[in-house]
Amino acid sequence: MHITILYRGSLISCNYGCEYCPFAKKQQSAAELAIDRQEVEKFVDWIAENSQHEFSVLFTPWGEALIHKWYQQALIRLTQMPHVSKAAIQTNLSCKLDWLKKCNQEKLSLWATFHPEWVNCHSFLSQCLELNHLGVSFSVGVVGFPQFKAQINYLRQQLPNNIYLWINAVKKELPNLSDEDRAFFQDIDPFYELNTQHYPSLGKTCRAGKSLISVDGEGTMKRCHFIKAPIGNIYAHDWETALFERLCINETCHCHIGYVHLDYLELEQVFGDGILERIPHNWHYN
Ligand code: SF4
Ligand code: SF4
Repeated sequence: MHITILYRGSLISCNYGCEYCPFAKKQQSAAELAIDRQEVEKFVDWIAENSQHEFSVLFTPWGEALIHKWYQQALIRLTQMPHVSKAAIQTNLSCKLDWLKKCNQEKLSLWATFHPEWVNCHSFLSQCLELNHLGVSFSVGVVGFPQFKAQINYLRQQLPNNIYLWINAVKKELPNLSDEDRAFFQDIDPFYELNTQHYPSLGKTCRAGKSLISVDGEGTMKRCHFIKAPIGNIYAHDWETALFERLCINETCHCHIGYVHLDYLELEQVFGDGILERIPHNWHYN
């Protein structure tokens, strides 16, 4: 069986300080980070031991993970496992990139977000070009605030056309955007409007809980990041019995890492193999 896991462990710290983010410039003690490290290593060991399944893993940390060696090591190990088809991570791309050469590039993917208040366009772009040079698959995202339009435009012009630049629609800000702002975002990202919706999900079938789970540092399984009730624990002998079809119990779903798994939206037709790291199928910017 192919199982997708969204892993979010005990990391709650970041080297950047984006003002809209609860983890901005938050620090953790060495003891707290050691716990996160042990949890990540145990999780990767568990994936290694469960080769009866095929796995795709997306790390969705609360904070920046790739500045810590244990996340780099986790991706190196996961991408080398025959029964892992994808290992991806959300990152601000502030880390060094030399370790990426040790990954199996056919299975690695990065979801890289540009934060214009914390890194200048040129530095971020040079990291992106290095990734492209290394043959790493990645998407680039920017939060859709109108004040970032100049940097977004610059990035789109400088990034190779094979790199998808997506705009994260800030749902609360949508009423404040002008028609021109929305047209600009849509021009940069043809799938922008797809991300502006709160999709009805109550009672709908979704892969979450059946072939996709969210896992925390202690191994607690939830169907997704947006429904908090645990459904099991991956470290329990009977963890597989928790996987079966469930209907969504939330009214709506509005985050890419959630709604792309709603069956009725059929978004695998848009994203194909790049659904986790947010890269549209056969992407090329025109
Ligand atoms: S880089 Fe990401 S995790 Fe860090 S402060 Fe900014 S939004 Fe938050
Ligand atoms: S639709 Fe969204 S909230 Fe509902 S189960 Fe799927 S991922 Fe979770």
